[in-house]
Amino acid sequence: MIEMRNVSKDYSKGIHALINVNLRIEKGEFIFLVGASGAGKSTFIKLLLKEEDPSEGKIIVSDEDITHLSRRRIPYLRRNIGVVFQDFRLLPNKTVYENVAFAMEIIEASSKEIRRQVPMVLGMVGLSDKASQYPHQLSGGERQRVSIARAIVNNPSILIADEPTGNLDPETAWEIMKVLRQINRRGTTILMATHAKDIVDVMQQRVIALEKGRVVRDQQRGAYGYED
Ligand code: ADP
Ligand code: ADP
Repeated sequence: MIEMRNVSKDYSKGIHALINVNLRIEKGEFIFLVGASGAGKSTFIKLLLKEEDPSEGKIIVSDEDITHLSRRRIPYLRRNIGVVFQDFRLLPNKTVYENVAFAMEIIEASSKEIRRQVPMVLGMVGLSDKASQYPHQLSGGERQRVSIARAIVNNPSILIADEPTGNLDPETAWEIMKVLRQINRRGTTILMATHAKDIVDVMQQRVIALEKGRVVRDQQRGAYGYED
């Protein structure tokens, strides 16, 4: 599903954000990406989304070599990868329904498909009764569930979550984790960058730890493993 071979990323002379990263992520895995601030987590994610290019090495996503992807192909890559952010990034002037529908309109899905798919994903994240609300009318946890619905509405094979619980209280964070786990159980590969030690320790999933740009640990059923 995802493969990095000898991947390095230098932003400029002397700034080695990633150094010789080698790993494989299989379809359906749930992975925590951990590491101190500046360790390279965001860079790792940007390389997968083709927001940055590697300085060295090879990156394969869903059997496609994206190392030298043409500009024209980038939208197709991003269609296959849903993304969820810490700060939700919802459109404030659109309802919950419209926020999710908008992600389908962008890829020119038919209105028939939109009418079928949007209520389905809102149901999956437990927001069927909030479809007509605006983001400011929702709690933080509900907003994050909207952003998850938006991220999965086009059926991506990979979901990347960048600190998805960073703005949420612990109880709400766990609700979000339940939703992500459910999506994962349906076959979506999930990569979650996080500082949530408790969550990582309890979930017992694969942990990839970065330190100063290097993978220093890659462990099945791993733990967070360090103090922030
Ligand atoms: P994390 O997400 O784990 O905090 P980052 O991937 O953001 O780590 O950063 C890794 C390293 O790359 C840090 O030293 C950071 O300062 C540097 N870095 C990140 N983005 C840029 C950029 N656009 N230009 C220059 N240096 C950057
Ligand atoms: P059309 O295919 O004509 O665009 P839609 O079914 O997509 O019609 O819906 C039009 C508008 O109605 C949407 O933008 C949304 O605001 C609202 N809407 C549709 N379905 C729902 C729903 N289940 N809950 C809340 N609002 C909805």
